Amino acid sequence: MLQSQLFTKTKKEAPKGEEAVNAQLLIRAGFIDKLIAGVYTFLPLGMRVMKKIENIIREEMVNIGGQEILMPVLQPKLNWETTGRWGTYDALFRFTSHYSENEYALGPTHEEIISPLAKNFILSYKDLPVYVFQIQNKFRDEKRVKSGLLRGREFFMKDLYSFHADEKDLDEYYEKAKQAYFNVFNRAGIGDSTFLTFASGGSFSKYSHEFQTLSEAGEDKIYVCEKCRVAVNKEIIEEQSVCPECGNKNLKEEKGIEVGNIFKLKTKYSTPFNLKYKDEKGVEKEVVMGCYGIGLSRLMGSIVEVGHDEKGIIWPESVAPFKVHLICLGEKNKAKCDKLYKTLSTYGRSTEGRQKAGIEVLYDDRKEASAGEKFADADLIGIPYRLVISEKTGGKVEIKKRNEGKARLVDEGELLNLLIN
Ligand code: ATP
Ligand code: MG
Repeated sequence: MLQSQLFTKTKKEAPKGEEAVNAQLLIRAGFIDKLIAGVYTFLPLGMRVMKKIENIIREEMVNIGGQEILMPVLQPKLNWETTGRWGTYDALFRFTSHYSENEYALGPTHEEIISPLAKNFILSYKDLPVYVFQIQNKFRDEKRVKSGLLRGREFFMKDLYSFHADEKDLDEYYEKAKQAYFNVFNRAGIGDSTFLTFASGGSFSKYSHEFQTLSEAGEDKIYVCEKCRVAVNKEIIEEQSVCPECGNKNLKEEKGIEVGNIFKLKTKYSTPFNLKYKDEKGVEKEVVMGCYGIGLSRLMGSIVEVGHDEKGIIWPESVAPFKVHLICLGEKNKAKCDKLYKTLSTYGRSTEGRQKAGIEVLYDDRKEASAGEKFADADLIGIPYRLVISEKTGGKVEIKKRNEGKARLVDEGELLNLLIN
């Protein structure tokens, strides 16, 4: 991608009233734009990151048997009345049609839609277990929205729902889902700072689990057991002030961002929607359910909260908008830069294979920008490898990693080796 053609430009200042580091950096660098508090546009750079996060999550969900669907955002009141949540779910956006008396909600979560939907297809024990998920915008009328992408009123979520014949089967799947969640956060580059956190299971289970990423920006207080690498949240510490795994009393208070949540719903939603199946003997039984959420936009914000310095964002390679930021200094070097851009972006591509990816390069070909501006933008945007061609680099290319201080000169062969391995 040529930077001169990019839809966005970087900004020196973040908008007034935007306090969160993730939003300040993402807005200044041109990943997102704020429409109103808690509502953001995802710009080309932001979409590239979001798609990578989405693909990681999708792969891990498919890997545990998830089948992707897309349910409506616009939902009738009746479904929410069936569970009694129309009046009690505070963050529910509700409104009335202008043409009729009909009332609707914008989906903040989809138990009210998936449970009656599943009734169409789950009839007998032979139809179980089954797992479906979606990746979609969710809407919540959140009271406080000062944390940028960490708490939106419109945000992206992956929600997976599992359906089982009995609790034992749910328990087994729950452990698989837990592992898939670890995989997601490891692959997204925040595995080291993300803790499995015991949370209340509501009236149906002893515990649920959150995945909490340690960060000063976190809105939640968690209590970490350094022996087991797990944590408990506030609800649990009030009930039992020890680690649920090893009984350790010395739990360390930290701030965390809840990037994911897994929950054994059991029959909480099957009961009101009368979701039942016939077992081997033809006896009707209630379907047992689990739900599993990850906030994709919150995850993107968390990655920035964990990975940045005073100059800008430091993306993990797996979710970076591009792998390489190629900076061309001086019009005289343009031909050399163009050639390297072509070599990298078509690397490994066969002549007819137009689909093959090559190396993803953002090429700063801007004529009007100074060297200083180009370097500052590269640090702000945070692409993992910065390459420079200038008067000084001669026949070589300067390479520097965003998270390292020193640059070095390499020839093209060495460069390709570094980027491919
Ligand atoms: P919180 O306690 O932070 O309000 P929650 O427990 O209500 O979140 P869930 O209903 O479990 O959240 O939603 C699943 C996931 O969706 C959360 O783990 C989080 O990653 C994400 N999420 C929830 N609310 C928001 C929001 N307002 N903005 C962005 N992501 C969110
Ligand atoms: Mg929560």
